[in-house]
Amino acid sequence: MDLDSLYQEVILDHYKNPLHKGLVPEYTKQVHHVNPSCGDEITLNLTLDGDTVSNISWDGVGCSISQASVSILSDLLIGKDYHQALGVVETFQELMASKGKGQGDEDILEDAVAFAGVSKFPARIKCALLGWMAFKDAVSQAEHGK
Ligand code: ZN
Repeated sequence: MDLDSLYQEVILDHYKNPLHKGLVPEYTKQVHHVNPSCGDEITLNLTLDGDTVSNISWDGVGCSISQASVSILSDLLIGKDYHQALGVVETFQELMASKGKGQGDEDILEDAVAFAGVSKFPARIKCALLGWMAFKDAVSQAEHGK
């Protein structure tokens, strides 16, 4: 199996069996982000415990790339210090800006390296970034609300 089909399988698996999907009623900040060019929508609930991302829950509709991306990022970022989590978001943004040249650092991005190939397709980059931008927005709102 080549890397592209392995990555497609990771994305499809998260799309079919999403992690942390289903909004929990307790949260620090709730954000709703849409990607009109594809019709993707997500609502993300962020819970901070001090500086720790103690929970992320979400609900959404849209293409497999957008939904799988939120599933992967929620599992990846829960339990991290939020400053560290924002660094992971930045690493993912750099990968998405790599125009197909980046491989992604698997130590930092784990399953999210599966989106490396998406960076070749400008129209799909917004799909992949939707959840990450929502997370970043929720953190920044939570920070300003302190
Ligand atoms: Zn999409």
